[in-house]
Amino acid sequence: MLPETIKKFVARLFSGARTGPQRLPVEKHGIDRRQVSRHAIKVCEVLRQHGYEAYVVGGAVRDLIVGLQPKDFDVATNATPEQVKPLFRRARIIGRRFRLVHVVFGPEIIETSTFRAPSSNGSEHTDEHGRILRDNEYGTHEEDAARRDFTLNALYYDPLTEEVIDFHNGVADLKKRVVRMIGDPERRYREDPVRMLRAVRFAAKLSAEIEPATLAPIRRLAPLIENVPASRLFDETLKLLTCGHAMDCLRKLREVGLHQDLMPLLDVVFNVSEGEHFVDLALARTDIRVRAGKPVSPSFLFAALLWKLVYQRWQSLVAQGGHPTQTLLDAADSVLDEQSSKMAIQRRFIADIREIWFMQSRFERVNARAIWRMLEQPRFRAAVDFLQLRAEAHEVDSVMAQWWMDLANAAPEDRIPMVEAYQAAQRGERPASAVKKRRRRRPRRKPVSSGENIPQPSNE
Ligand code: ATP
Ligand code: MG
Repeated sequence: MLPETIKKFVARLFSGARTGPQRLPVEKHGIDRRQVSRHAIKVCEVLRQHGYEAYVVGGAVRDLIVGLQPKDFDVATNATPEQVKPLFRRARIIGRRFRLVHVVFGPEIIETSTFRAPSSNGSEHTDEHGRILRDNEYGTHEEDAARRDFTLNALYYDPLTEEVIDFHNGVADLKKRVVRMIGDPERRYREDPVRMLRAVRFAAKLSAEIEPATLAPIRRLAPLIENVPASRLFDETLKLLTCGHAMDCLRKLREVGLHQDLMPLLDVVFNVSEGEHFVDLALARTDIRVRAGKPVSPSFLFAALLWKLVYQRWQSLVAQGGHPTQTLLDAADSVLDEQSSKMAIQRRFIADIREIWFMQSRFERVNARAIWRMLEQPRFRAAVDFLQLRAEAHEVDSVMAQWWMDLANAAPEDRIPMVEAYQAAQRGERPASAVKKRRRRRPRRKPVSSGENIPQPSNE
């Protein structure tokens, strides 16, 4: 344990705060209290009634100030988890390394954590590159601000006084759209290399610039990302891809030198021919969904990111005389094996990704009976969306893709004549497209080419 005086001195150095925090009134930050989760307000009120300090903190405050809808609301307090828990009817202490409290209000969880101190600088707490291995000491409010990553993430909103407490000039940076590291950037990246990815994500999400001193060490320290545990890298990649500005994030990662060899996925995206275009289309759709507040499926995203690589391997195996369905499975497995050793794509996602890919080989060559089985697959809808994406990328015929989309959208009773028409086409009586044209309910997108690729019946 460091003597208290040294700890305080170190905390002061980290925080750079000499005159205490700014307390900004509503006119300076513009947060409309009605936009704040009433459950987060409740947590702060209850803690305050019991004599503790409590604030809404982090991403929610940042997003509210710039007029974005926060994903979730976190609270920071000087009460320990053991003091917080009994104050709420539904609360549980979680986390082993750093314990915090989940206060549950129906579907909403308010994550309530105790102020933490910046990591001690001793080597026993870090690996040989300076990465923090232990980070679990409680601290003061000021220390809690100093251990956060960027100034715009170290803001505390007091719902009772409606003030924002700002130790590091974060509101000004946020308004100027500057992502600035608190403390010495190099040391802070060494402590946690994921902060490099976070800098990029916030810059893309907020249309901000990374401040020069914060940007400078990134290219040199980029290889430290390799030391980040795979599961954390996966989570962070998912956050990048679902922040609503995914392509901007990927471009920025490339720009600052964070893509090469670090995130195997990104190498794939940018190096496979046509890969970038395909991913561009996929991410544009994802961004639209995220910004409209709709959920996005991680499986779909990763299926899209890795598809061109799978596709190339698949095509070359087919060219060597392999069976289309089996070779697709082989190509899929080889790509997934490679990727998941570097980034822990969770098992449940892997199963879904395989399913989405596997169905791609069937869309183009399936018999009518198998269509009914495909319709029962839980990932059928995602696979059809994926087929649309491939059509948009001119990889398959858009009329064929639309036929499947219509089938997916059709009411169960309307599917029967569609499949019958397909069967008729299979027997060579008339093209399925003829029936589809009569039955269509929504204006159809303009086909890319003639309907020569209408689902081709096969005798599988
Ligand atoms: P969002 O949830 O929108 O992705 P966020 O800023 O809320 O963004 P979280 O990962 O939820 O990000 O973290 C909450 C807060 O915790 C951050 O605002 C920041 O203050 C702090 N924080 C998170 N990760 C780090 C880190 N790696 N280093 C330092 N502080 C961090
Ligand atoms: Mg958050």
